[in-house]
Amino acid sequence: MSYSAIKVIKEAFTGHRGWKPLWRRPEPKSEYDIIIIGGGGHGLATAYYLASEHKNKKIAVLEKGWLGGGNIGRNTTIFRSNYLLHDNEKFYEMSLKLWEQFEQDLNYNAMISQRGVINLFHSDAQRDAYVRRGNSMLINGADAILLNEDDLRKKCPFLNYDNARFPIQGGLWQPRGGTIRHDAVAWGYARAADQLGVDIIENCEVTGFDIQNGSCSAVRTNRGTIKAKKFGVAVAGSSSAVMANAGLQLPIESHVLQAFVSEGLKPIIPGVITFGAGHFYISQSDKGGLVFGGDIDGYNSYAQRGNMTVVEDVCEGGMAVMPMIGKARLLRMWGGVMDMSMDGSPIIDRTPIKGIYFNGGWCYGGFKATPASGKCFAHLLATDESHPNAKAYLLNRFEKGQMIDEKGMGAQPNLH
Ligand SMILES: Cc1cc2nc3c(=O)[nH]c(=O)nc-3n(C[C@H](O)[C@H](O)[C@H](O)COP(=O)(O)OP(=O)(O)OC[C@H]3O[C@@H](n4cnc5c(N)ncnc54)[C@H](O)[C@@H]3O)c2cc1C
Repeated sequence: MSYSAIKVIKEAFTGHRGWKPLWRRPEPKSEYDIIIIGGGGHGLATAYYLASEHKNKKIAVLEKGWLGGGNIGRNTTIFRSNYLLHDNEKFYEMSLKLWEQFEQDLNYNAMISQRGVINLFHSDAQRDAYVRRGNSMLINGADAILLNEDDLRKKCPFLNYDNARFPIQGGLWQPRGGTIRHDAVAWGYARAADQLGVDIIENCEVTGFDIQNGSCSAVRTNRGTIKAKKFGVAVAGSSSAVMANAGLQLPIESHVLQAFVSEGLKPIIPGVITFGAGHFYISQSDKGGLVFGGDIDGYNSYAQRGNMTVVEDVCEGGMAVMPMIGKARLLRMWGGVMDMSMDGSPIIDRTPIKGIYFNGGWCYGGFKATPASGKCFAHLLATDESHPNAKAYLLNRFEKGQMIDEKGMGAQPNLH
């Protein structure tokens, strides 16, 4: 089914009864070539690229709940490619370029809005660090503009420039960054993968792996045992729990991250803005709600809800950077479970068990990585070689001390 303006107008006049479900609901087959575990953004994108670019025919995505119920439908929808380290910058810039093509490639409206992302700086030292990061972005083909205080005052007059503790001196602006409707990404990939013959099986939880002589031949699920030649695990916050079923311990911890949405307000926030002296980021949805968040809760958990201390911390960050936010009423808040790696960067690699491949460690930045992650994981599953832009995201980098520590904070997940 392809969308067109004529179809939308026709449906508007006929009670919207002609729309079809976006994907089938097939029963699981007894065997596939490749099984993707986890129907979040990364799992669905992987299945789509396996089918579209590598022409794999017998693919299934097994999802324990419903599509969009995990972090793909819980994030604050921000995409950007403003990284310092070369391995990260080239990967996330690849992702940003794929986002720019997403709607055309998939014929699906995901409300992609390149409204820009501004990282505020509050000291000379922080400005210098941002100049360095901006240069790294430009070298890797991304866009970056340094804004001084006057430039910023014109764009965002509502910020608290003269705060004695955190005076705002300027910002690093990436105009091509922005926001995308997150669950439309899941639906778009699911629809496109389904059209290419991928079986998307919801309410199908993987509970174990059949492993003999170091090689995996099947997964056990609540809907029976399913065989395959290869298994790609992309379960985000459940990474450690699922891989423990294969006897593997990962350099990953699960932490909660919360998001907040205010009542609908007239347009005021021009793009995405991040506070540089604390952890607070904000944008405004097309419905007018202020969408914001901050730090992870800082303790290990699999609960998809957070705690009051972080609510307070996020609100303090908001009040410091834009005191007017104190007048807005909070409408909703929720939590998601983050797969925090030890250096804050992801893993896309084989595992020591033949047939099992792993994609995870996305921390709280994996939404923007969705297309590149899917493309690189599909490449690995199809060819058994790392994609050129994901060669650094190996499991054994922690063993070898080759960390990709973007923040330079050390080997503690709660600091990244
Ligand atoms: C509050 C919040 C804000 C965020 N904001 C941003 C942001 O602005 N920008 C950004 O880039 N990133 C952001 N992120 C991070 C981003 O959402 C995640 O890194 C990314 O979505 C993770 O990949 P995924 O979409 O595949 O995960 P998920 O959607 O969580 O997919 C994993 C799936 O695996 C399934 N699963 C788990 N166990 C099993 C099993 N045993 N069998 C079968 N299926 C299983 C789960 O049900 C789930 O659907 C945010 C996250 C949160 C929670």
